[in-house]
Amino acid sequence: MLSQKQLFLLNTAQTSHTPRLLQIEKSEGNYLYDTEGKKYLDLVSGFAVSNIGHRHPAVIQAIKQQLDQYLHVTVYGEYVQSPQVNFAATLAKVLPHNLSSVYFTNSGAEATEGALKLAKRYTGRNEIIAFKNSYHGSTHGALSVMGNELYKQAYRPLLPGISFIELNNEQNLELINEKTAAVILESIQGEAGVRVANPSYFKKLRDKCNETGTLLILDEIQTGFGRTGKLFCFEHYDIQPDILLTAKGMGGGMPIGAFISSKEIMGTLAENPILGHITTFGGHPVSCAAGLASLKVILEEKLYADVPQKEELFRTLLKHPRIKETRGLGLMLSIQLDSFEKVEKVSDYCTKNGLIIDWFLHCETAMRIAPPLTITTAEIEFACETIREALDAIYE
Ligand code: PLP
Repeated sequence: MLSQKQLFLLNTAQTSHTPRLLQIEKSEGNYLYDTEGKKYLDLVSGFAVSNIGHRHPAVIQAIKQQLDQYLHVTVYGEYVQSPQVNFAATLAKVLPHNLSSVYFTNSGAEATEGALKLAKRYTGRNEIIAFKNSYHGSTHGALSVMGNELYKQAYRPLLPGISFIELNNEQNLELINEKTAAVILESIQGEAGVRVANPSYFKKLRDKCNETGTLLILDEIQTGFGRTGKLFCFEHYDIQPDILLTAKGMGGGMPIGAFISSKEIMGTLAENPILGHITTFGGHPVSCAAGLASLKVILEEKLYADVPQKEELFRTLLKHPRIKETRGLGLMLSIQLDSFEKVEKVSDYCTKNGLIIDWFLHCETAMRIAPPLTITTAEIEFACETIREALDAIYE
């Protein structure tokens, strides 16, 4: 009989030749447990998803309660489903007033797709400006605004009318003009290895969008829900997007995303023709119930409040001669090493020693630090000590 790992390799579509092959039996709080009973501290949060930890009791309770009421009942946007209504209303309450209309999707990439369509529809324009080294998902539209040729070349033709500019390059902002439907960017470039823009750059970008009637789409799919020390990262920059993208940490571990805009902008999807964007499962009631429970935990426990102190502790304890740079904001950090080979070795060492750490799609020489916001001081100490030990061992 084939083992689970063999069946995984045989029948589950593979996306690389080097999957991690950890077989997880259970997850709880800041830990994953494998089938051999080994415990791992999660420094990745399933890629910025488990912001409140794994299987938070409030999320589990909300899911169970919804399971007893209904699952899927109809396509998105027809029946009044309380989990959607309550989640959207709570999001609208904590967001600026221009972000009051929430379109729920199943994933981040779908939120990107919806936002690109919405921007074209509302402005009547068809050009989009995106950023070098960006990542907004893997579907065709999202791939079209991805700033990495390596992952795009095999899939052309992609969407026409897309130009790429460089983060923090103010001169490039001149390319935004009256033909530009939208500028799309991540509030912090995640897969580029965590690159933070200057707050002054964001202000200038916002001004240029206002001047030209261009919509600003901010992708907070990784940065959202407290990860950077604010509920949303744009709060650090003192600007507001016209369309906000969320997913990942939104669902407390359940699949959900959203593009969020004003009632006026979003309203165009219901006009001429109607049904401008439709989805069967978007805003699934169980995902919305879980998402609302997770948001309440973040807000009530102010899980973002001590994120700056936790960032500081990571930065203090991650001092090592082999770490060339520590980048990021809050609990969205990266440490820069000098090669992919070293990154892989550190990762292997850490996994063997009970710590999950990973790297980035567009930056294989840096390591990803994105733990649940609930990580404790003792856990940060353990994580940093393990990383330092790994660096000592592989560079000796
Ligand atoms: N946008 C950003 C910034 C992301 O990091 C990701 C996923 O890593 C996505 C979009 C796509 O989200 P999903 O994988 O849910 O489609």
